[in-house]
Amino acid sequence: MKLTILGSGSFIPTAKRNCSGYLLDVGEETVLLDGGSGTLRQVFRTNRSVMEIRRVFYSHFHLDHIADFLPLLFTRKYSKPQRPTMSLDIHAHRGFQYYYDNLTKTFEKWVIDAEFPPYFSPIEPGEYNFPGYKLTVYPSNHTPESLMYRFEEVGKSLLYTGDVDLCEELLTASQEVDLLLIECGNTDDNPAQGHMNPCKIKKLMEKANPKQVVLIHIPPDLDNLNIQKVFGNQLAKQISLANDFDNYFL
Ligand SMILES: [Zn+2]
Ligand SMILES: [Zn+2]
Repeated sequence: MKLTILGSGSFIPTAKRNCSGYLLDVGEETVLLDGGSGTLRQVFRTNRSVMEIRRVFYSHFHLDHIADFLPLLFTRKYSKPQRPTMSLDIHAHRGFQYYYDNLTKTFEKWVIDAEFPPYFSPIEPGEYNFPGYKLTVYPSNHTPESLMYRFEEVGKSLLYTGDVDLCEELLTASQEVDLLLIECGNTDDNPAQGHMNPCKIKKLMEKANPKQVVLIHIPPDLDNLNIQKVFGNQLAKQISLANDFDNYFL
């Protein structure tokens, strides 16, 4: 597996960090995990192409995670000389049907590629097999539609939490995972319900024992987080604060 951080930032993009978006090469596919505004351009800045994306998995419907949905379809339709060579499946909680239908209907002429049209494929908690990898979907307590995605490929695992707060499902989903890609959207001084902060992540690590932890959804006031001070020397060895365009290999 190869993970590329397209956006390590929180809900408002900054000069340093774009909104949520992660490219994952897993099994025989390249998939996009969320895609807030600016995600498409971040893909091209890594010298990759959005034409490579076979599937999108949305964690929930907040705009910092889905705003580039229409631009993605528009780019696929009008890109030249590179053309799509495969269809695009959009996976999310079934409630996304409302947004999918209304947005694609409003902009139909400009976003529906006749040769390789996009498909909305609702997904719910459970286990799925895709080419070369297994996916387990868990509910998250951030919003009613929120989902977490755990990918497994030849004995390696990665959990993408989306936005989340401490809960039993998070504990189960991150158990012994090789790479925990987890939001850290708030400081310990200013915690928020429905989001994680360093203190909560430390508690989770002590219970779930993930092997590597990558912090994302970083607000400006966590840019200079002192990981060793907050997590202690031992846990700090397993943690990194993501930056846009970082790669992680599993
Ligand atoms: Zn968010
Ligand atoms: Zn959110």
